[in-house]
Amino acid sequence: MARKRSGDAVRDVAGENFFAAVGVLRAHPMFAPLLTHAGLNRWVGNLCPDDGWAVVTEAGGIHPHPTRRAEPEEWMYVLAHTLLHLGFGHFEGARERWREWNAACDCFVAAFLADLKLGRAPWEPLPDLPRRGEERLYAHFCRDGIPPELASLGTSGPHPDMLRADARTPRFGRPVDWRACFGRGLSMAVTSAVNVAAGREPHLGADAGLVTEARRAREWFIASYPLLGALAAAFDIVEDPLVCGRMGISIAAVDAESREIFINPAAGLDEHECRFVVAHELLHVGLRHQARREGRDPFLWNVACDYVINGWLVEMRIGDLPQVGALYDPELRGESAEAIYDRIATDARRFRKLATLRGVGVGDILDRGAGHVRPGGGVDLDEFYRRCLGQGLVYHEEQGRGLLPAGLVEEIRALSQPPIPWDVRLAQWFDDHFAPLETVRSYARPSRRQSSTPDIPRPRWVAAPGAEDGRTFGVVLDTSGSMDRDVLAKALGTIASYSIARDVPAVRVVFCDAATYDQGYMPPDAIADRVQVKGRGGTILQPAIDLLERAEDFPKEGPLLVITDGQCDRLRIHREHAFLLPEGRRLPFVPRGEVFRIT
Ligand SMILES: [Zn+2]
Repeated sequence: MARKRSGDAVRDVAGENFFAAVGVLRAHPMFAPLLTHAGLNRWVGNLCPDDGWAVVTEAGGIHPHPTRRAEPEEWMYVLAHTLLHLGFGHFEGARERWREWNAACDCFVAAFLADLKLGRAPWEPLPDLPRRGEERLYAHFCRDGIPPELASLGTSGPHPDMLRADARTPRFGRPVDWRACFGRGLSMAVTSAVNVAAGREPHLGADAGLVTEARRAREWFIASYPLLGALAAAFDIVEDPLVCGRMGISIAAVDAESREIFINPAAGLDEHECRFVVAHELLHVGLRHQARREGRDPFLWNVACDYVINGWLVEMRIGDLPQVGALYDPELRGESAEAIYDRIATDARRFRKLATLRGVGVGDILDRGAGHVRPGGGVDLDEFYRRCLGQGLVYHEEQGRGLLPAGLVEEIRALSQPPIPWDVRLAQWFDDHFAPLETVRSYARPSRRQSSTPDIPRPRWVAAPGAEDGRTFGVVLDTSGSMDRDVLAKALGTIASYSIARDVPAVRVVFCDAATYDQGYMPPDAIADRVQVKGRGGTILQPAIDLLERAEDFPKEGPLLVITDGQCDRLRIHREHAFLLPEGRRLPFVPRGEVFRIT
């Protein structure tokens, strides 16, 4: 049992040692591709028997004992053993006597690991293991029975460690070709051994001329898939295991500024998986996921975008979804990244443990700062990527390249349109709420220009009698110190000019920070002069909303405009409303009303 030391969190030594072993195997060229494709299941209640170490399933699930405490070398040995069952194709073919077959495979794997000198068996090693193939051992065991000393070389004590049925490891797409996977690992192991022997650093796939699966995938998009062709051509593929290791990229990631897609060759992806991964990263860029983040949590936003992209790619049947780091949930089909984000943000703790293509808890949308901007890129890059994908869609449709998911087409179209500026949208909001008044000339009120000609009465244009009644709206203004003064001035100036243009004579105003300050009715152009931004932290807007919704002197249908930086409480508003937010900020809840972002 882990014991709690004072001032220290409970240490999970069993887990630490286990994951240390996983880390070593992930970096081991021979085992990394197998481990990438296998599904680790270390939950309590998995398929591992209590007295076992680990079992492996036909579907590629590895189920280690969830609480057993052992040294990292022992876990390395156990995990390598289970992975080798997959890599040697031990689940292929029907075997009549599974127990004998499993024992034969265990013998073969144990001999292989003894030669490789990887890790340490947690049990007494046998001095001389029979050096024969699985088939011959199998025939021998079937004929003469399993010799007792060879009966428990597997990783599950007296039980079989290879399980055929496994309903707990869901798989998508084609089954993994485990032998091919192991083959890629072996050739990487040889290359890295040769490089190390030659005094060079292992630099797998990084040689410019080498044609790798990932580069083939990129070429395929350029040559045969018009939707993503232009984007694919704009990106380089970086396949340096050292670079990927340093950046914590277990499978893939993308940097839109430097125009690089990173693919870790240690993941051992095949050509179909590479297509999926390259398309995934290109869509992050083309759909401007980075720019659309708007103050959301970067990792959870990345997860939401991954769900959307992967759902579409599965629907489009582009390549194969790799098993690790592929967030896919058919139930989320048709939802936008924004909607998925709002869902998962309510259960952030759970979703933080998910893995993107980069790894657990880290996003595959890289943001490395301005230092990595490629010359010639920069300012117009956003525009450039929008155009790449927009043009790609046109080519795709012209060439009749098959149906695309409706949501994807919609998003690409929306991105190809220049965004409507916030003030134009706000003007539209005013038009919707305040139809033009019928005006009449009236001598009852003097013209505003009267003072220039005191002797001649000037009639004034006024609204038809009664028309101004109820022609007002409420403004709830966040005056806490975190609102930027320039942004506030811009917002208020715009509101004042639209109000005057639409004959709204007075606005019902409430200022708030930690407290509420009722300002009553004010002419729209006077708000800016009256407002005082106080340096107090904390904003509570709900009391201000309640005040206006209950106010006797404010019409029941009067709409509300809430101006805030978003660092406020969760709001319940029962009438028409809209929010004005500084660009890049976001509300801590899902707003029902429109949101205008001041730029
Ligand atoms: Zn992603």
